[in-house]
Amino acid sequence: MIAIEDVSKRYADGTVAVDRLSLQIPDHSITVLVGPSGCGKTTTLRMINRMVEPSSGTIRVNGEDIRSRPVNALRRSMGYVIQNAGLFQHRTILDNIATVPRLLGWSKERARARAAELMERVGLDPGMARRYPYQLSGGQQQRVGVARALASDPPVLLMDEPFSAVDPVVRRGLQEELLRIQEELGKAIVFVTHDMDEAITVGDRVAVMRTGGRLAQFASPDELLSS
Ligand code: ADP
Ligand code: ADP
Repeated sequence: MIAIEDVSKRYADGTVAVDRLSLQIPDHSITVLVGPSGCGKTTTLRMINRMVEPSSGTIRVNGEDIRSRPVNALRRSMGYVIQNAGLFQHRTILDNIATVPRLLGWSKERARARAAELMERVGLDPGMARRYPYQLSGGQQQRVGVARALASDPPVLLMDEPFSAVDPVVRRGLQEELLRIQEELGKAIVFVTHDMDEAITVGDRVAVMRTGGRLAQFASPDELLSS
């Protein structure tokens, strides 16, 4: 479980991106951060893996302050997926997914076997293993991004507008795939989107943020739909 405790972020230019945010993010569920552009969603996500340091407040994972561990150990325990997948353009799909296991010291064979297994898990045809990112559609690239983030089997998955750049039909398929993966693997997923429909579709819990980086509401999709 991730606990965000009274966390604020003021950037060097004085912008207050997040203002006294407190949020409990349980394991085995998808927690969505939703709200208009600029309300502090990405900043919040990046504070969880320490790409951004809070100005005040504390973030804990299973009770432990995230500052008490080396940052690399923390990041290895958290997969990270961004909007345009951020794939390595000069590596094949298989090798993109195998990158993290290779960094962890796995043999090339074992890392590629793991990558092949993950391709299947996210619904990518095995024939795509030897292709390069530019040879894939946007939706397929996002699947690769998800597979790469899952490669070290991290307990936490951070997803920043992962499906926003793909068309609505493909997006629907990716959302369903994510729900299936979540059911099978039971990760703690933190999912950022500006789209309330998407938040309600994928979220077990939805944190609605408003401009100024404050929490407006933290509710289940059912509660949001009936309010
Ligand atoms: P969101 O993800 O909801 O669009 P962000 O967390 O990206 O919001 O940004 C929140 C606010 O902080 C915005 O006003 C944005 O312009 C500002 N901001 C983000 N990153 C920086 C930065 N590195 N320096 C200064 N201001 C920033
Ligand atoms: P490297 O050049 O890194 O030593 P290899 O010569 O083993 O790699 O493989 C060349 C290319 O073939 C790599 O880009 C890799 O993605 C691809 N490849 C190797 N093994 C497999 C495999 N089992 N399935 C799919 N693609 C593979």
